[in-house]
Amino acid sequence: MEYNLNDYVNNIKGKVIMICCNDCCAMSTIIHNENILVYTSFGNFISPENKEDIDFFDFCIKNEGVATIIIAGHFNCKIIKHIWTNGTENAKWINMQKSLRKWENEYDSTISVSENEKEIIRKYIFDQVNYISQNSFLERYLSSGKLIIKGIIIDDLNKNRVEELCKIPIKYNGIK
Ligand SMILES: [Zn+2]
Repeated sequence: MEYNLNDYVNNIKGKVIMICCNDCCAMSTIIHNENILVYTSFGNFISPENKEDIDFFDFCIKNEGVATIIIAGHFNCKIIKHIWTNGTENAKWINMQKSLRKWENEYDSTISVSENEKEIIRKYIFDQVNYISQNSFLERYLSSGKLIIKGIIIDDLNKNRVEELCKIPIKYNGIK
């Protein structure tokens, strides 16, 4: 089923932290929804070692009844383009840059440049979901069934359509 961002958030049950990128204009359409706590981060990048971000998520899970964290990437991302193509000397973004550049050699010549760029953003967001799921604070909530972490992409070049990418915990279903 295909949703635009508004339908998508209206169908979410319970309170959600939605991690939006700073230059994602689509977040203005959901910021007033009382169940959505919009949390911005540069290029959707959350390092599991970043204590400030994780502290806030921990607070929201304990005190605000948040049971889902959604990392909401977007295709029209100038920040990701900047980090990926021009690079940065800023130590803070080195991990983000590594995460993006590891896809560099996976360019598929059978699809267009813009489709390749979309594919890299999908892989990057998928990576971010896996990455923050490894944080020991969040892992406790994930393994006890109190938290779900999802990755979505907002197609802000096409009516804010939403693609659902992945959902964790998958690995906790009966395996752990
Ligand atoms: Zn962006």
